[in-house]
Amino acid sequence: MNSLARPDLEILRYAPEVVFITEADGRIVFVNDNAVKILGYSEAALLRMTVLDISPEEWRAVYAQRLASVVDVGVRELMEIRIISQTGQKIPMELNLVKMPNGLLYGSCRDISERKLAEQSLHQLTYYDALTQLPNRRALLKELQRCLTQHTHHFGALLVIDLDHFKSLKAVVGDALLIAVAQRLRAMQHSNHTLACLGGDVFVLLLEPGSPNLASAAELADLLAQQVNTLLKKPFVINEQAIRISASIGIALFNGDKESPDELLKQAKSAMDAAKKAGRDTVKFYNPALQSTLAARHELEQQLRLAIEQQQFTLYYQVQVDSQARAVGAEVLVRWPHPQRGMISPAEFIPLSEETGLILPLGLWVLEQACAQLKVWQKSVQLRDLVLAVNVSAKQLQAANCVAQVQKILLDTGTKASQLKLELTESAVLENIEDSINKMRALQLLGIRFSLDDFGTGHSSLQYLKRLPLDQIKIDQSFVRDITTDANDAVIVKTIISMSDALGLNVIAEGVETAEQRDFLEAHGCHVFQGYWFGRPLPLAAFIAALTPLK
Ligand code: C2E
Ligand code: CA
Ligand code: CA
Repeated sequence: MNSLARPDLEILRYAPEVVFITEADGRIVFVNDNAVKILGYSEAALLRMTVLDISPEEWRAVYAQRLASVVDVGVRELMEIRIISQTGQKIPMELNLVKMPNGLLYGSCRDISERKLAEQSLHQLTYYDALTQLPNRRALLKELQRCLTQHTHHFGALLVIDLDHFKSLKAVVGDALLIAVAQRLRAMQHSNHTLACLGGDVFVLLLEPGSPNLASAAELADLLAQQVNTLLKKPFVINEQAIRISASIGIALFNGDKESPDELLKQAKSAMDAAKKAGRDTVKFYNPALQSTLAARHELEQQLRLAIEQQQFTLYYQVQVDSQARAVGAEVLVRWPHPQRGMISPAEFIPLSEETGLILPLGLWVLEQACAQLKVWQKSVQLRDLVLAVNVSAKQLQAANCVAQVQKILLDTGTKASQLKLELTESAVLENIEDSINKMRALQLLGIRFSLDDFGTGHSSLQYLKRLPLDQIKIDQSFVRDITTDANDAVIVKTIISMSDALGLNVIAEGVETAEQRDFLEAHGCHVFQGYWFGRPLPLAAFIAALTPLK
């Protein structure tokens, strides 16, 4: 310390930089006036500190290392650091650190706050739209380039969103509307979206590649576009005026194969132009084939909604029989007699209703009808022992009010629950196994039974099977089909049967179409059957008429 009390330090005292001198371990032995002024501590206080005391916590380890390397090797270090002032402010500085011949370290720092701010604002100017503060075209193209070079083989989407009739609106509301639109779009943005503004009233939403194929990317992008449309249709209030707008949206899908960012943007824009030409307030895809598939899907969805509202559905019944070919029950299969297209198979509309959530009202309707029918049977001497099986989708099982709803239907219809069987698939149960088990237990307490549908096509793991309150396993029809010709399928079926025996579960085979299949199953211990060999799914009256001779 006394070695420092020399007059030449006086010069440093007034230097325009922040100057300090420390021991090798960082203890401060000298600071100049500027250091005191900028850091806000008194000189005495600083002389009791080490340089690490005035460094941000997260940087201390790094700074300590740099300090040590200057001490060890004696190199000069020019580095950008942050210093914490007495008021807690982090000040960016450029530090020049030198080891002096006497072993002390000499540091001189320059405040670079202004340069940092300038750099930031340059970045802001370069990559952000001045009005909306959203990433601009340059930023978007950069991000798009990054997505395209990821080589994930996944598909992403680029949505160009253009406000309809903005030119005429501009005079009235101008920039305020664009800022409000940007705000709304920002609120719906997910972590895998990039939202940008290309200037004016053109916005872009980039959906990062994450869909395994073109079709699923198209669906996702379409959904997103619908969301944007709904969001923008809610009136904006600007200058105490309610403004209603709509948008035309163009979508281009990509998976980084050969497209360039510019090319993609062009595609999405041309799709957007097509949307404008189609009368605005629409969504168009660049790929026309995709466009028509989606259009068909939309149409089906609309019709499905209407069909549910108007209860256009009807139920078919397919008999289930025992070894003596006596009817023991039936599976209820929904049908949609479409006014124009004739009977539509559930294979076509059940997946769509699952995706759209329409399965909830539809499934409820099926269950209500089935229970009402079961109640009628329970009063008939001839039919009172039949068990009725109803298919239940994953979404239905996962609905919070699932148990309460079933209970209500049973109460309302006065049906005995012991003859109601719910068919669940493995995947439906597995999606949230704990929740499924709880609900199944609660339903079981009401007297309801469970059959595991399509068995063999999923995980088929014994481990969880044991935990489920099941009564029956239903061997999937894909195994039954080739049971007499494919040795592999025969082994699978035999294994499923012995596995079910071991678990004390009853087995039913579905899709039995021939006597040979029936005999094979019977010989290997499966004694309940369902399939065309015994009866096709039939409307109620035909089903009952066909039952009589079986009895
Ligand atoms: P699933 O539950 O596996 O139903 C069996 C399907 O196989 C039925 O098709 C039935 O008509 C058909 N089938 C029956 N016997 C034979 C046979 O011997 N050979 C062949 N090749 N096929 C046979 P469907 O009625 O078209 O139903 C298809 C799927 O739609 C059902 O598969 C089920 O997953 C779903 N589904 C039907 N109704 C409902 C419902 O009310 N709710 C729910 N959630 N899903 C339903
Ligand atoms: Ca079924
Ligand atoms: Ca099945």
